[in-house]
Amino acid sequence: MRILVVEDEPRLLRNLAKALREEGYAVDTAGTGDDGLFKAETYNYDALVLDVMLPGLDGWEVLARLRKQKRTPVLMLTARDATSDRVRGLDTGADDYLVKPFDLPELLARLRALIRRSANKTTNKIELGAVTLDTRARSVTNAGAAVTLTAREYAILEYLALHRGKVVSRSELYEHLFDETDDTLSNLVDVHVFSIRKKLGQQIIATRRGQGYCIE
Ligand code: CA
Repeated sequence: MRILVVEDEPRLLRNLAKALREEGYAVDTAGTGDDGLFKAETYNYDALVLDVMLPGLDGWEVLARLRKQKRTPVLMLTARDATSDRVRGLDTGADDYLVKPFDLPELLARLRALIRRSANKTTNKIELGAVTLDTRARSVTNAGAAVTLTAREYAILEYLALHRGKVVSRSELYEHLFDETDDTLSNLVDVHVFSIRKKLGQQIIATRRGQGYCIE
């Protein structure tokens, strides 16, 4: 899952990006509303964390312009718990909002919920035959036994599982799982898929020649 964080306060931006990467997300960052809008329009993120108070285009304006094109889930960060902000956020098309200062675990929980909702999932568990993913713990079991996947392997499996039945191209996987700071060496999707199959069985992910991968 790839997240864009738009926040002009450098320290908060850094800390958020670090915390989200530790949770296994690919994270892009923007320090201004203009840069944030550009990235949000250019790439297909799984969710945005968008601060309201930004220099230049503020968070409301970014959201309003983005909504003319895309339904990317947006979590707004508002400065105060004013009812007018809440109403405005929901009217403008925000999916959720958090009041600063916030607790990191709450932000992470709300992000997970946003991403789940956009994939029409209501729980943290995804069942693929004998294989079960826990998207909260980011853990996998096979017939009840824990299976250890690397962060990359888990991210690929989870993305395919959330888009079950759909053929996902390699370029879509790259776009959603690797961020602007990734080097190319760690990006070999085929190698990760090979490794996932070794751990969970060949049948877990199907290859559609010339199109991509699919969990049926
Ligand atoms: Ca700000």
